[in-house]
Amino acid sequence: MAVRVEDLIDLRDVRQVRGKQSPNLISQDSFRQIEILAKELGFREVHLSQASDIVTARWVRLKCRYGCAKYNTSWCCPPAAPNLQMTRDILSEYELAILLVSENTNEHFYRNSPSKRRIQIKQWKSTIALERKLFLMGYYKAFGLPADTCALCKECAYPKQCKFPNEKRPTMEACGIDVFQTLKNLDLSTGLVRKVQDCFYSYSLILLA
Ligand code: SF4
Repeated sequence: MAVRVEDLIDLRDVRQVRGKQSPNLISQDSFRQIEILAKELGFREVHLSQASDIVTARWVRLKCRYGCAKYNTSWCCPPAAPNLQMTRDILSEYELAILLVSENTNEHFYRNSPSKRRIQIKQWKSTIALERKLFLMGYYKAFGLPADTCALCKECAYPKQCKFPNEKRPTMEACGIDVFQTLKNLDLSTGLVRKVQDCFYSYSLILLA
């Protein structure tokens, strides 16, 4: 079916506001469809962005390496996740991405509790389910980078073989993506949550085309 020019979201308009330019177009109907699918899967917000808005930085993996107990314990975290150069090369093969926002509260954020794991698994599976739906819609390059870390197994099998390889993905931070700067580039709030009982947002990404 032919798509009318007036039905297209022209990301150039978005870019002009931010002083950049891109030739990317996606139909408003397609984006609305993606939004509906994402919301059905529990995401609160869906933002279309250019892959060039996604920022990578060395400090991100530094924080993984020094200060995170997950380092070298999961297939989805460094050093198993794509390194910075590989991430930059991968991003250069995409023009569009979808940022997905989830809203959560979890008093047990700093504890390995069943409630924490439930939230992690839901976000993980929702991102991968949407990636699959996008693939079936024709976005054959769709690739998800879910929020947090993979908790599909109580304990990751790493370095032994992953138990659910179809659902194995790296997280944004694990690939060296600077989520804070990326959010700023999309004019989204980057406020920190200071009390563990407060609501917080988490972010997943799907590289699209
Ligand atoms: S599915 Fe299990 S083994 Fe595979 S990355 Fe996730 S936690 Fe690790």
